[in-house]
Amino acid sequence: MNGKILIVDDEAGALKLLKEILTAAGHEVRPFNNGELALRSIRAEAPELILLDIRMPGMDGFEVCRRIKEDERLKDIPVIFITAATDMEDKIKAFQAGGIDYITKPFQKEEVVTRVKTHVALNRSMLQLKQIAEDLSKSEESLKMAQGIAHLGHWEWDVNTGQFAWSEETYRILGFEPERQMACYDAFMQSVHPDDKERVATYLSKVLVGSGFDIEYRIILPDGNTRAVHGIGKLISLGASRQPKIMGTIQEVPDPRKIKMLGVIQDITKRKELELRLEQQANTDFLTGCASRRRFLELAKQEFVRNKRYGGDMSVLMLDIDRFKAINDTYGHQAGDTTLIKFVQECQGILREVDFIGRMGGEEFAIILPATGGRQALEIAERLRKAVADTEVPMQESSPLRFTTSIGIASLIEGDLNAELIINRADKALYEAKNTGRNKVCAAA
Ligand code: GH3
Ligand code: MG
Ligand code: MG
Repeated sequence: MNGKILIVDDEAGALKLLKEILTAAGHEVRPFNNGELALRSIRAEAPELILLDIRMPGMDGFEVCRRIKEDERLKDIPVIFITAATDMEDKIKAFQAGGIDYITKPFQKEEVVTRVKTHVALNRSMLQLKQIAEDLSKSEESLKMAQGIAHLGHWEWDVNTGQFAWSEETYRILGFEPERQMACYDAFMQSVHPDDKERVATYLSKVLVGSGFDIEYRIILPDGNTRAVHGIGKLISLGASRQPKIMGTIQEVPDPRKIKMLGVIQDITKRKELELRLEQQANTDFLTGCASRRRFLELAKQEFVRNKRYGGDMSVLMLDIDRFKAINDTYGHQAGDTTLIKFVQECQGILREVDFIGRMGGEEFAIILPATGGRQALEIAERLRKAVADTEVPMQESSPLRFTTSIGIASLIEGDLNAELIINRADKALYEAKNTGRNKVCAAA
């Protein structure tokens, strides 16, 4: 064994002999004949073991040892004192000063070699152990951190002794404080949500006979809140001589109900937005922006029901642009579109806030005039007809386009069962207007 040994002895003969014995035993030896020089060397490079004479002129061995022991970096270096065989008091004081052992003068070669060998080996084991402990605490620290990040704790259950152990993260997940709650089966089960208790207990007992345990369940925290966890457990055999134990993990999972709810909320929001958009699309005529046929019929029905219930007038106008096909043919489809837009704008400019216009298809429109009797409807229709006839649609490459519309009128009469009946009458009136010259207003009989 190649130990690094430092020897301090003021007696030249003793120093020489010790050096010879230890060098022969394979050690690397640094000899010093006084304490000050030895201390300087020890501080410069720490030896594995120090052989220290007690009685020396100047600084004696006890003082040298005291100084070594008060130095944090050096205090663990084992010191073996060299004493006279007869001096019992020195032997006791040697241990009190922090020595680990002593050897006596005159030296017994075997004794010196054996003691040095033992202490070097012991010291090396100690250092190794210290390193292992340090590494262990580092990896324990890492494990703790990892578990904290993953919200994953682990536990052990020694089935024979009934002893439970929980990691720090397990304590946190269960909501227990390590100082107040001992890890035990009862506390573990007590934390389980009443509805899940039976299931968890069954699973746990099955682990005892070798099956795995892998379930999601809920726990009730001491503050009353619920937490969803994922538990995994397994029976582990630790070699023939040791009793098997159950080891497991517990992981906090985001509350599945919350996830579901969140999902549903998102779903609903998205669907609602889509519904709203679709509804708007379905209610609005894409080209002119007025009510769609669907929306118009809906509003017509509402107006009809209201008038039926509370009594009152309502009239319907059906409008169809005259010879619209010719507009398309002469000026192009684009000009036809512009004409349709212009037509709606003209109508809306004349209609009141309560009136509404819908596009029934192609170049055919309908208007509801709430609280309006036949005579008044006729006036409004005439105003519309004139306004349309006076409208000019500017054309880029020709003089403005002019067009006319025919209008049929019908008003609510007793016996009308629904809005469609009025609309149908207005349609018939429109047909009449078309057939009797166009650009004119006809009222239903
Ligand atoms: P009438 O005086 O008898 O109503 O004759 P008309 O030509 O107006 O009637 P008809 O129903 O024969 O023709 C309507 C035309 O309107 C046919 C169709 O191509 C056109 N049309 C329908 N929808 C649109 C549209 O959105 N834009 C354009 N530019 N044309 C359309
Ligand atoms: Mg037409
Ligand atoms: Mg038509």
